[in-house]
Amino acid sequence: MKNCIACGMLLGDESKDYCKHCAHEDGSMQTYDEKLESMAAFVIKTQGLNEDVAKKVAAEQLKGLPAWQNQ
Ligand SMILES: [Zn+2]
Repeated sequence: MKNCIACGMLLGDESKDYCKHCAHEDGSMQTYDEKLESMAAFVIKTQGLNEDVAKKVAAEQLKGLPAWQNQ
């Protein structure tokens, strides 16, 4: 089994390097900023944090993911 190179989530489709949460609809990978935005939005929705705090949480999470460690 393969994992998403961006978030580490297990992939069902082994022909891809990243999951549907980390890619655009055309299959290209999201940029760091796009991923940060979408993760922040997810944190706001699930944890009810304000935007500034949610972006910090999202940035911390991205730091731990293999695709973003050089950001
Ligand atoms: Zn992913």
